[in-house]
Amino acid sequence: MKNQKTKNNTETSKILQKPPTQLTEQDTEKLQNIEINTPEYYQLINKANQLTRNQFNNQGEVYGQIGINIKPCPEKCQFCNLAEDYTPFTENHELTPNQVVKKAIKFEQQGVNAIFLMTTADYPFQKYIEIAEKVRQNISPKLPLVANIGDFNQKQAQKLVETGFQGAYHVHRLREGEDTDINPQKRIKTLKAIKNSELDLSYCVEPIGNEHTPQEITKEIYRGIEYNAVNHACMWRQPPKKGPKSNTQRITQQKLAKTIAITRLTTNNTIDAMGVHEPTLIPLIAGANQIYAETGPNPRDTQKDTSKGRGYTPKQARQLLKKAGHKPLKGPTKVFKFKQKIKT
Ligand code: SF4
Repeated sequence: MKNQKTKNNTETSKILQKPPTQLTEQDTEKLQNIEINTPEYYQLINKANQLTRNQFNNQGEVYGQIGINIKPCPEKCQFCNLAEDYTPFTENHELTPNQVVKKAIKFEQQGVNAIFLMTTADYPFQKYIEIAEKVRQNISPKLPLVANIGDFNQKQAQKLVETGFQGAYHVHRLREGEDTDINPQKRIKTLKAIKNSELDLSYCVEPIGNEHTPQEITKEIYRGIEYNAVNHACMWRQPPKKGPKSNTQRITQQKLAKTIAITRLTTNNTIDAMGVHEPTLIPLIAGANQIYAETGPNPRDTQKDTSKGRGYTPKQARQLLKKAGHKPLKGPTKVFKFKQKIKT
């Protein structure tokens, strides 16, 4: 047993000596065998931290995410507090377009670097577009807008671009189709639609639990790269209030930091920001430099407005970045790019 451990440590030490450009999928998988608090763990953290600080110029970014609605979602993701069958919410709730606009204006005034608009998967697309148009008209034309909605097709991707979105957050979640009621192919089709559009992809390995294997995590790290993610990330699973995942243990910050560091080294210079969700300190010294401020309904929260619950304010998010030694970026992010002339 001891010999096996020594062999593994030597192997991972060797992998860590490689430049990130030479890492293979097998290397990414093997790095996950590194145990917390070993010399290899700190070697890994150090390397990813250095890479991020050099490449991103010691700067950190805060994106503001606005949740729009609470409604039992038919996709029944077992990690979500809005999922039909598991939701603790007894009433539907939806922000008015004006409330969304007000929140977006406030986020901009509070200095977020991009705005994400999030709904449950079955939210009517046309209604979403109408809200987004209003938001776009009321925030700086230079502040990127990112869609976080259910699956969509190529035509809808184009509609998002025309409405003034620069990016889309979309993910094939860990155990998609097992822990969710979504056919994984549907997620892939949407990722393809994003890749074939002018939208920049924000990807994430999520929601990570203690049961997920190195193979599963590696697959999602590489899927983000395959679909040209400009912003990769890792998120832990916050156990929901009800349902089969409610009694699970959240992974530790240290374990999240390890996955962040491996994702960071693997993605190398293919990304322009590395996110950690939810905002936590240790991952921010392990290669992450981007976090979220959040308001409105949220799948990880049981509060109607997450800014009164788990969500950070932009100020709190910036303080956390500073604590980890990242200079908060001032003004709009350059991660999500303006390729199309904004409709005025
Ligand atoms: S995570 Fe999204 S798709 Fe899944 S149940 Fe919640 S709102 Fe629906």
